[in-house]
Amino acid sequence: MTRIRLLPPQLVGQIAAGEVVERPASVVKELVENSLDAGARRVDVQVEAGGVGLIRVRDDGIGIAREHLPLALARHATSKIATAEDLLQVRTLGFRGEALASIAAVSRLELISRTAAEPCGWRLALAGGDEIPEPVPVAHPRGTTVTVADLFHSVPARRKFLRSERTEFSHIQHFLERLALSRFDVGFSLRHNQREAWKLPPAPGEDQWSQRVAVVWGKEFVEQALLIEWNHGPLRLWGWLGLPAVARRQGDRQWWYVNGRPVRDKLLLHALRHGYRDVLGGDRQPAALLYLELDPALVDVNAHPAKLEVRFREPRQVRDFIAQSVYRSLGQVRPGPSPPPKP
Ligand code: ADP
Ligand code: MG
Repeated sequence: MTRIRLLPPQLVGQIAAGEVVERPASVVKELVENSLDAGARRVDVQVEAGGVGLIRVRDDGIGIAREHLPLALARHATSKIATAEDLLQVRTLGFRGEALASIAAVSRLELISRTAAEPCGWRLALAGGDEIPEPVPVAHPRGTTVTVADLFHSVPARRKFLRSERTEFSHIQHFLERLALSRFDVGFSLRHNQREAWKLPPAPGEDQWSQRVAVVWGKEFVEQALLIEWNHGPLRLWGWLGLPAVARRQGDRQWWYVNGRPVRDKLLLHALRHGYRDVLGGDRQPAALLYLELDPALVDVNAHPAKLEVRFREPRQVRDFIAQSVYRSLGQVRPGPSPPPKP
């Protein structure tokens, strides 16, 4: 006879964590998103052994008050939404209240935070789904530091699927670069095994934006791209469209942001491709870095646990707007040296 059993809570936590924490890079993504949601101006990321040894994310954001620290680690606890209506208008990167709990379920996690109102920071540490302990006082500037050690050490099933240190680190770098291009006003740094991998100072002005894009995507792209901006009713599209000369075989240089959130969405990719239909041959993919902004009520970001996919309320309107904007932008360069539109 087969028996149906209730699983122990630790195992339930590990299973749920699998949705959010696929690899070290997912941890970095979640932690850095939290820093950005907390209004950080600076985010420093430190990684050891491809993230499996250690991941530390430090920010200068608003911090978490002592009495809220244990809740930050509880599953389905968030400060970002409160009602079902809020879910229709999400303006933050996080809202599911799952990341810290999930990460804690599969690692040793230390959370230190200090708000402007407190004279010192408070520290909480737990390992592999322990009970949440009482915070203890420690020295810390305003902001938050989360340290994740021994990722997946209690989850052999997941550990087995991790790649080499180098590969895991390159995923981390990729995620961080994606986030760094979502917030030009924030400074980022990344260290791996005690060595600086890169550093991006805050880039408040438009000229500096292109510099940051050049650091991440190379100078060649920026020099051969149009900076565009189009508005249509509630929709705004801006960003860099690579000229056909920088098109590639792979579609790895099509980065999209919807209301500042990095996404990978089929509708957007198709619309982009359609906009390039007259200037690119069949096997070449456009290179483009694009930002779509619209009323949060017109887009559902709760379509995917990793929040990479979105659903538009008016998909056709969005697709047509993008394809047309891209097509027109490229049309302006086809006949000759007419300047690209300025935002
Ligand atoms: P979510 O981001 O979906 O709300 P998380 O599990 O990532 O869920 O975080 C839980 C809560 O902890 C957040 O809602 C926020 O209040 C707090 N928090 C997490 N990280 C930070 C941070 N770096 N700075 C300030 N608050 C944070
Ligand atoms: Mg979060």
